[in-house]
Amino acid sequence: MRHGVLIVISGFSGAGKGTVVKRLMETDRYQLSISATTRKPREGEVDGREYFFLSREEFLKRVSEGRFLEWAEYSGNCYGTPRDFVMETIAGGRDVILEIEAQGALQVKEQFPAAGLIFLAAPSMEKLKVRLFGRGTESEEQVATRLAQARREIEQMHRYDYIVVNDDLDECVQRVEQIIETLHDRSSEKQALVGSLREEAARMKL
Ligand code: ADP
Ligand code: 5GP
Repeated sequence: MRHGVLIVISGFSGAGKGTVVKRLMETDRYQLSISATTRKPREGEVDGREYFFLSREEFLKRVSEGRFLEWAEYSGNCYGTPRDFVMETIAGGRDVILEIEAQGALQVKEQFPAAGLIFLAAPSMEKLKVRLFGRGTESEEQVATRLAQARREIEQMHRYDYIVVNDDLDECVQRVEQIIETLHDRSSEKQALVGSLREEAARMKL
């Protein structure tokens, strides 16, 4: 049985991470990790579905217990990826997707070098601006903050394993799926095959 791979999707706010992840989840191939956060639930959000909503005290206790694979503070709230869930799911053979902000994404690579880090970019800063305004969930000031943040993130893009441009959505989703398949083909994922070839060669006295 092949074990699962860990895929991290990060990138500019408004690039389409949520949209792409939603599409990936329409197939039953991947498991999305549910993060913990100290932010308050938004209308319609359910504890244990969108996030595990925790008090700051409980969150920091879990940090000190090493229960997060990564965590970061973003817009005044803490967000973290539950370590055990991710590790157990991968060991069980399912691919896990994290949709997280950039500081956390880069921490994952340190903790788990086999993870595939994908930076999702919009085709241009102009289109990013249009998408952020078009989504209609942020004020003009918040959009400006996110664009300034995106400008800073450009300087970190080289630290990711892959950069995928979300221009045509279908094409973008396909590219991400291809990357996930490629992660399964890495030699580190093929140790069972290497072992069985070795045994067979020995049996055949080659
Ligand atoms: P993120 O999660 O990265 O902040 P969203 O998934 O919320 O971004 O997408 C931001 C906006 O851009 C949304 O209104 C979404 O419908 C739109 N969008 C996403 N992907 C595309 C695309 N390929 N082409 C045009 N608009 C897109
Ligand atoms: P929101 O509050 O809008 O749901 O999320 C804010 C940001 O936090 C988004 O960029 C989202 O990707 C990121 N995020 C969600 N969960 C995690 C997590 O577990 N770790 C980190 N580092 N970021 C997260």
